Amino acid sequence: MMAALLLRRDKKSTAAHLKSDLNRTDNSSGVRQLQELLDSVLNPEKPPADTEALDWCKCLIAGEEGFEEFCKTVRSYDNATLCGLVWTANFVAYRCRTCGISPCMSLCAECFNNGDHTGHDFNMFRSQAGGACDCGDSNVMRETGFCRRHRLRTGENVPSVPRDLLLMSEMVLPRFIICIIQYLRDGYTEPAERDLQKVLQQLEPQITFLEELTKMGGAMRTVLTKILTNQQTFKDLSMGQEENVFAKKNYENYLSALKNSGLVSVEEKAQTGAAEPTRGSETGEDQDGQSIGQRKRVKLSSSTKDPSIMDSLKHKCFLEELLFWTIKYEFPQKMVTFLLNMLPDQDYKITFTKTFVQHYAFIMKTLMKSQESDTMSNRIVHISVQLFSNEDLARHVTEECQLLDIMVTVLLYMMESCLIKSELQDEENSRHVVVNCSEALLKNNTYWPLVSDFINILSHQSVAKKFLEDHSLLMLWMSFVSFFQGMNLNKRELSEHVEFESQTYYAAFAAELEACAQPMWGLLTHCKVKETQEYTKTVVRYCLETLQIWFDAIGFVDELAPNQVTFHLPLHRYYAMFLSKAVKCQGLDLESLLPDQEMLMRIMVHPLQIQASLSEIHSNMWVRNGLQIKGQAMTYVQSHFCNSMIDPDIFLLQVCASRLDPDYFISSVFERFKVVDLLTMASVHQNTALDGEQERPMLEGALTFLVILSSLRIHLGMADDEILRAEMVSQLCMNDRTHSSLLDLIPENPNPKSGIVPGSCSFEEMLSAVADFKAPVFELGGSMQQGMYTPKAEVWEKEFDPIMVILRTVYRRDVQSAMDRYSAFLKQSGMHTTGNPWPPYKERTPLHPCYKGLDRLLHCKTLHIVIFTLLYKIWLDHSNMSEHVLCMVLYLIELGLDNQVEEDKGDEVRPSHCHDSWFPGTNLLSNLHHVINYVRVRVPETAPEVKREREPPASTSAEASNFGQAQVFSLVAERRRKFQEIINRSSTEASQAVRPKSSSTRWVPPGTPPQLVTEILEIHESMLSLLIKLHQKLSAKQNSLSATWLEDMDANPNRHAHGDGITAIERILTKAATRSHQSKRSIQEICGKVFPPVAPKKNSPTAKKTMDKEERRQRARERQQKLLAEFASRQKSFMETAMDVESPDTEAAMDLGASEVKESEVLYDCVICGQSGPSTEDRPTGLVVLLQASSVLGHRCKSDEAKKLPTTDEERIYPADTCGAAHDVRLALMQSFFKDSSCLQSVSIGWDGGVYVQTCGHTLHIDCHKSYMESLRNDQVMQGFSVDKGEFTCPLCRQFANSVLPCRPGRSTEVVSWHMPSNKKTSVLVKEVEDLQEQLGFFPTESNLSKEMELVIKDIKNTTQRKYMDYGKNPGSPDNDFLFMYSVARTNLELELVHRGGNLCSGGASGAAKRSCLNQLFHVLAMHMRLYSIDSAYNPWTRLTQVAPSRDKMNSRVCLDDERPEVPMLFRDCPSLLIIFVLTMPQPLRKEHFICLVRMLYNLQYTQALAALSAKFSPEERQAWSTSGTLKKFSLFFYMINCPFNTICALLLCFLSQLSSSVWSPQSIEYSLQQFCLPYLRLSCLLQHHLYGDNLSGCPEEEEFSGLAGCLGLLDPAPQPSNPMYSASCLDWTVSAFDLMSQWCSEVTGLADTQAEKSMTLLVQDLQWASPHLLHLPDNYNTIFQYYHKKACTACKKVPKDPALCLVCGTFVCLKGLCCKQHGICECVWHSQHCGAATGIFLLINASVIIIIRGHRFCLWGSVYLDAHGEEDRDLRRGKPLFLCVERYRVLEQQWVSHTFDHINKRWGPHYNGL
Ligand SMILES: [Zn+2]
Ligand SMILES: [Zn+2]
Ligand SMILES: [Zn+2]
Ligand SMILES: [Zn+2]
Ligand SMILES: [Zn+2]
Ligand SMILES: [Zn+2]
Ligand SMILES: [Zn+2]
Ligand SMILES: [Zn+2]
Repeated sequence: MMAALLLRRDKKSTAAHLKSDLNRTDNSSGVRQLQELLDSVLNPEKPPADTEALDWCKCLIAGEEGFEEFCKTVRSYDNATLCGLVWTANFVAYRCRTCGISPCMSLCAECFNNGDHTGHDFNMFRSQAGGACDCGDSNVMRETGFCRRHRLRTGENVPSVPRDLLLMSEMVLPRFIICIIQYLRDGYTEPAERDLQKVLQQLEPQITFLEELTKMGGAMRTVLTKILTNQQTFKDLSMGQEENVFAKKNYENYLSALKNSGLVSVEEKAQTGAAEPTRGSETGEDQDGQSIGQRKRVKLSSSTKDPSIMDSLKHKCFLEELLFWTIKYEFPQKMVTFLLNMLPDQDYKITFTKTFVQHYAFIMKTLMKSQESDTMSNRIVHISVQLFSNEDLARHVTEECQLLDIMVTVLLYMMESCLIKSELQDEENSRHVVVNCSEALLKNNTYWPLVSDFINILSHQSVAKKFLEDHSLLMLWMSFVSFFQGMNLNKRELSEHVEFESQTYYAAFAAELEACAQPMWGLLTHCKVKETQEYTKTVVRYCLETLQIWFDAIGFVDELAPNQVTFHLPLHRYYAMFLSKAVKCQGLDLESLLPDQEMLMRIMVHPLQIQASLSEIHSNMWVRNGLQIKGQAMTYVQSHFCNSMIDPDIFLLQVCASRLDPDYFISSVFERFKVVDLLTMASVHQNTALDGEQERPMLEGALTFLVILSSLRIHLGMADDEILRAEMVSQLCMNDRTHSSLLDLIPENPNPKSGIVPGSCSFEEMLSAVADFKAPVFELGGSMQQGMYTPKAEVWEKEFDPIMVILRTVYRRDVQSAMDRYSAFLKQSGMHTTGNPWPPYKERTPLHPCYKGLDRLLHCKTLHIVIFTLLYKIWLDHSNMSEHVLCMVLYLIELGLDNQVEEDKGDEVRPSHCHDSWFPGTNLLSNLHHVINYVRVRVPETAPEVKREREPPASTSAEASNFGQAQVFSLVAERRRKFQEIINRSSTEASQAVRPKSSSTRWVPPGTPPQLVTEILEIHESMLSLLIKLHQKLSAKQNSLSATWLEDMDANPNRHAHGDGITAIERILTKAATRSHQSKRSIQEICGKVFPPVAPKKNSPTAKKTMDKEERRQRARERQQKLLAEFASRQKSFMETAMDVESPDTEAAMDLGASEVKESEVLYDCVICGQSGPSTEDRPTGLVVLLQASSVLGHRCKSDEAKKLPTTDEERIYPADTCGAAHDVRLALMQSFFKDSSCLQSVSIGWDGGVYVQTCGHTLHIDCHKSYMESLRNDQVMQGFSVDKGEFTCPLCRQFANSVLPCRPGRSTEVVSWHMPSNKKTSVLVKEVEDLQEQLGFFPTESNLSKEMELVIKDIKNTTQRKYMDYGKNPGSPDNDFLFMYSVARTNLELELVHRGGNLCSGGASGAAKRSCLNQLFHVLAMHMRLYSIDSAYNPWTRLTQVAPSRDKMNSRVCLDDERPEVPMLFRDCPSLLIIFVLTMPQPLRKEHFICLVRMLYNLQYTQALAALSAKFSPEERQAWSTSGTLKKFSLFFYMINCPFNTICALLLCFLSQLSSSVWSPQSIEYSLQQFCLPYLRLSCLLQHHLYGDNLSGCPEEEEFSGLAGCLGLLDPAPQPSNPMYSASCLDWTVSAFDLMSQWCSEVTGLADTQAEKSMTLLVQDLQWASPHLLHLPDNYNTIFQYYHKKACTACKKVPKDPALCLVCGTFVCLKGLCCKQHGICECVWHSQHCGAATGIFLLINASVIIIIRGHRFCLWGSVYLDAHGEEDRDLRRGKPLFLCVERYRVLEQQWVSHTFDHINKRWGPHYNGL
């Protein structure tokens, strides 16, 4: 009742009243009143959308002052020392590696900019998952990096909060929060029937209010923390409330939601009772309905230390329940932000972290069920990163809340949901289970948030130690890892190609890397010192145990099931990496960590199988499995995986090799590579496992593997610095690299890319030590280069390591690329100039003592027999040998020579080998010269060795006995025997070791085996003698080594470093000789022998081919490269000429031939049919042209300085001063006074949206072009241009084009007779011109040519938009058309002027005119213009050359047909008039008439100049001028031309009255007159040049006027150095100058009375425009980015998701945004149409990249901002500072001005108006 009373009162006064009540000592009544009020206000049964309750809360909390005021007050008590700003995805934040302690540290832009990070290693990034600012948190970052605000520790000087300020908050907020919770409880149903999003939407205002509260700072957060964590309040408010039915129902809802929150559901628990770890498999149903074939889902129940981890949740405070609902509702963004905003409160942070950990299993369960796991994952990590990056907190929850146990258990449970039975090895009986990579959990990477949390906490030493000390946890983790062991098994398809290529391998590789390898690397960082030895020992022990379990589970004995491979052996790799660390860093003895021999033999099997499979895959033995298998092979060695996959595998094999019997190991390798059968001395053999074409690559693979195995030192003794250096060198040798691609290619572990490196050298230091920086070079039209690093010369010379390159190449071609680059270096430096060099041999880092055993591989009889056999076979050209085989064999010999093993005398009593008969000992050095006499081989009966008639053995008994001892060699038998031996020796259960070998059957070939017979071969060779024979063979010289050559060798030991096979053999022989006297003697003996002059016979011609194949391939490659280079240079020259840029050296290529001028007819080559002939009316020829609309001219300004791009709100760009705008204003002004049709002949348009015509200079028959277009239409592959719009590429030069401009028959330019200067008087010429103008033009009879001409006119009109054609008052009227047509000519002339640099000083030969199509264009335009005729009554020629009979007559004429007068001559544009005259007179126009036109118009131009000039004089100046002495001198010129100067001046001055304070001298007057007339002269001259082919003579800039006047014949060409006043002497009057000028002036004076000011504007105009520029950009990209990435669009007022900037005018637009789309066109495209007449240049703010829009197409141009390494940073991925590359920007501007975007840039695509 009381509440009802209160409710009716005003909220504010109620609040004040209650507050005072509550402040009394006895506040019970106040409390009661408040509770009653809240009971009725905060009623959860009311819909949450009703904000009345919210308003009440705000008022109550604020008390008498308003809520805003209250917020301010509370904020003044903020004692927070942390920034803690929370952001969501796409926010721009910073990361500083110099300041960060945790790698996850991030700063908001404000804190970053207010801190000092100069010279630090920082970058900007766009947040993916959201984050929070760490400024002020010394756990995460160094204090030196704090910003000024958070460095001050504001907390210390903030007064304490007055008690009553937050009193009401403490009372009201608990009720408010429980109200929200009740809404959440009520909204949830299981399973979620209601739309959760809807529930959340309704709650939005409430949660926003909570968020607002957190922003009030520390004081309010403390209150909230108290409420959220108080257990009593929660108990009182949350449960029970029996009397309220609604609350009760809610509560039950909540309880049922809680039920299934644990890992073990309540039901399950009741059923099983005892949690026996039964690893049984039971068939489960497939949830997603898709069939996984016969695979079985397996469910396990694991045991864990603490069953409470598995239990359902129980809540004790608001925070816990709030988090619970946050999870249930799948992490609504607002809620997450609220929870994170609270984090700066330390108490809250701790409680919240604990709560989060408590809910961890529940999070996993919800995540797995979620439909939008991606979003949810991001939100989870957004929170967890804030909690777990802090070491103190992570350790705290590890100790108190079993964080580690929870995480491992949760991960285990998660993976258990998708286990299947492993099919590896024993498909039937395998007890091993693996994850199923096709399950959504793996395919979608759903597990990543949990794994990343785990990796994050393991990065803290204290936490990692806890993990490593807890054995049961380790056990649990190992069983987790074993879920990935053997996953994604590949089975080789033998008969048919797989039906569909499974892409599960992505999931598998990602899972091993993220879930297994990353945690491993995390743990390894804490096992780096002696003190941590114990940890390593424990891990190694559990690894071995788990491996043992695995071998048992898959039923592995010693034979591998055939045709299977898995790339996933994480257990092996854990074992390997911990071993490596133990030896390298912890000083542990390897022996103590190794298992027995039998286990080692098993461990080696699977990694070895991967190596063999790699070779099989590259030998195309797995083609039937599809491309994906190659993908796996490449991923396995790729830079992000190699550290965690191939490197550990190779290392483990090296460990095995160093401990196992070398003969066993070597024979295992060859057996696994399936090349055993090939290793026979017989010339013919059977290989039951391989096809013929696979033998050679597999043998190469096996040998290469052995070389890698015995020479790689990455884990065997190289220091971290050396590793980094070797990695860098091998990547740089393959290709020049940009800084960022190099960073990406260098494996991360164990060398973090930047920051603290384990070695002493940083990445940058190492880079500058091994590489030279090649700054980007810029050439017009060339590709956009980036800064590159290339190996230093001494690196090529000393460090190039082909073995490392082979190990690190993903693409096979990279090995060849490295070798080609190496050869090029040797050639260039003169070190090796003949033939192709071989991969250089590189000496190796000494082995760590622990791995010394590895060298025994090189000193074992089996390997020596293989080497001997291969040398022999190569010498005899047996099939399937190759240069690569020889190269690897030599490499192995040399490695053996360089790595001697000390003979172990104690081990002498070894059991005898079956190979003992081949070689006496194991030492390579002594075996080298051992001579083998006879070898027994098994060959088919048809083999050449089989002698049809057996000769009896030699008679001497000695030889006979030798014969009997002929060597036999069987690798397989050897390996089997060894295996038995080892098993028997090591195992007490010897009987067990003899196992049935069912698999041996696979060695039996299908069908009847051919009959084999035993033959005995006579050999009599040693390895040395074979080497010498090969030397002869390679050098193609008998006795290539003289008996004394060894002596000559010692002189220069270095000459053998680089070279071919011959050099390699010489090097080996020298080494052998220096190391052993016996070898030396042997070599000398062999060399001394004179060999019979018979070349070794060739057993099969095909064998020779294989040897030569490499060489021929190399030659073919060279030839191809040469061809490509030639082709490229040819194309380049086309490009250059097509760009219409002055480049004299390419002129010849384009010149159609100077001789043609003299010929009467020009012949054109058709680039399609190849025929040559004239262009005729019937079969016209045309120029390939590109028509494009252009606004480049319109964007010119007065100032030569580019406008600055605004980067603050104060700066702005004003478009009014551009050429386009100025002309628009002028035309509009004229149109307001004068007759429209007259106006339209007094100006030119086309400054904006004019049509520019460009040609590549190639011609074709128009009918040929039509059939060409038809063929393009049918060709589907044409991309980037649209055939329907007439677009095509020039068939010859591939330049983009869209029309064909017909060539007129006959001359290319006017024939000589038409050029002749005439002696006719000017007055005669004027009359002739007048007559010609009256003459009706001849209309050409309709012909193919005339039709084509009209078609191209149509094309021209279609090129630009209507608005750029219709300037008249009557749209579509002939006047408009007339204006547009002659303006096309103007546009092209003006653009040519711009391209020539704005003047004609540089000159140009007549040949240049032919490159342009202006002549042909003029002709086409003139043809079209004949359709119009100018009414003779209005012909300006009359007014230009005649004094009107009477003034009245003229005026009356004006009044007759229009109210408005014609445009006065002084306002008319002379260049426009010239073009009009030329185009409307009969073609061809004689040159004398042209000159006459130019002269008469010059009179007008000069008068306009005088008028404009005098308008600038002050009255005083005018006075002074008319009387002063200088005037007399000046007026002399006027005297010469019969015109009293002062009269003219007086005339002009009397009606012009503008004040000006300038002081004028005769020189300055002459200068400004010349400047005024120059544009007219330039244009006339250029026109003359194109019409008549006259040369443009160059001149110094200050003499341009006289030069041009001379060129046009206005001035006597003889130089007049004494007389600087030319401008007046060019005048030529046919009537009284005074009368004509008076007449012109009177036209203006008639108007001046009414519109003096406006007519002045029309009179005084500046005709000069500076060359066009793009906007001036700031040096640092950050300046642009900071201003524009959060700037709102002026059209939609929103901050665009993809903002873009027009670099021509500075307009800011929404790229791709629907917000600013109009008529289905997005803003960027729309702007390109208006700003650039369909050409747009936009800077994409968020990508730093420029895109070009051209009509319906667009392309990515690249960036003009580069980082310190000369590289682009597209999409700002690296976020390093970027600086303007002036050269690139100039290239961009140049392409814009020269209209060559289409020609230079590749990869255009349609934009569908969507940009
Ligand atoms: Zn800060
Ligand atoms: Zn901050
Ligand atoms: Zn810093
Ligand atoms: Zn043709
Ligand atoms: Zn061409
Ligand atoms: Zn623009
Ligand atoms: Zn917009
Ligand atoms: Zn917009």
